[in-house]
Amino acid sequence: MPPAPLPIPFAALETARDRLRGLVTRTPLVASPSLGARTGAAVWLKLESLQPTGAFKLRGATNRLAALTDQERRRGVVAVSTGNHGRGVAYAARRLGVRAVICLSELVPPGKVKAITDLGAEVQIAGADQEAAEQAAHRLVADQGLTFVSPFDDPHVIAGQGTIAFELIADLPAPDLVLVPLSGGGLICGIALGLAVLAPNARVIGVSMDRGAAMHASLAAGRPVPVEERPTLADALGGGIGLDNRYTFDLVRRLVDDVVLVTEDEIAAALAHSFRCDRQIAEGAAVVGQAALLAGKVRPPPGAQVVCLLGGNSIDLDRLIEIVREHRL
Ligand SMILES: *Cc1c(COP(=O)(O)O)cnc(C)c1O
Repeated sequence: MPPAPLPIPFAALETARDRLRGLVTRTPLVASPSLGARTGAAVWLKLESLQPTGAFKLRGATNRLAALTDQERRRGVVAVSTGNHGRGVAYAARRLGVRAVICLSELVPPGKVKAITDLGAEVQIAGADQEAAEQAAHRLVADQGLTFVSPFDDPHVIAGQGTIAFELIADLPAPDLVLVPLSGGGLICGIALGLAVLAPNARVIGVSMDRGAAMHASLAAGRPVPVEERPTLADALGGGIGLDNRYTFDLVRRLVDDVVLVTEDEIAAALAHSFRCDRQIAEGAAVVGQAALLAGKVRPPPGAQVVCLLGGNSIDLDRLIEIVREHRL
């Protein structure tokens, strides 16, 4: 039996690329001579940390909002996120003139709330935890007809993240190995969908932290499973993939070659390496690819063209400075 067609066609990525033109930053691909020397490969960094919101999630959010029907656009959108997704939705909504409500729990620190209201979105503080915030969002969908914007499990979001593949191939036509931070899987699925057409020989490897890696645990179980959320330097990789996951679980199984896990110490060492050697400010979730290379958990063949995707730069700078001081390398 031939394999079932992919649920998101390559054409969806091409549409997203055209929609996003002028709305998101075309990010650079820069060499990392230090990682090259450590690995014997040619290592490149794709700097999504340079998006105006500090993370790639702007791509998926912008594509989702640009795809709204006229009626949906008049009603507005709602999302649940304290971090990069919330900022992405807020920024995209302002650019496209759409009302956005971001639901947050009472636990979210005032600084993060302000970062979202500064971008022009409405904030609704709802309840004592993430689950209460999600329930509030679903009430807004039911009562006011707002469109819920998922951070990863949505074809428009996945296609938006997939626009990274076009830029990557324009700068490096034949990558051998692409290392992508992995949480819910929107980022890696988008990139893998693009590379399946643009660079079919490239291996795509997901990297998560070993504390609460939901996709890794779900792959092992053969179905989406919940994980216990634990504090980690890679906080943007926390959270589940949704027990009712519709797209990313299946796509990761079909398109991703491997998933590797890195420890907190490995992430800390990679943050320090990124700052000291590559002169990049990145968040913990963004340096898991470099962490896997530095720890020897991924060993590219000699001379291979390797790309590490840096997803974002949302890190407390005092904490980063501490980590950099602790790791003299
Ligand atoms: C959301 C996020 C990820 C993970 O993306 P998924 O699509 O959920 O796999 C990785 N890095 C950063 C910085 C993020 O904000």
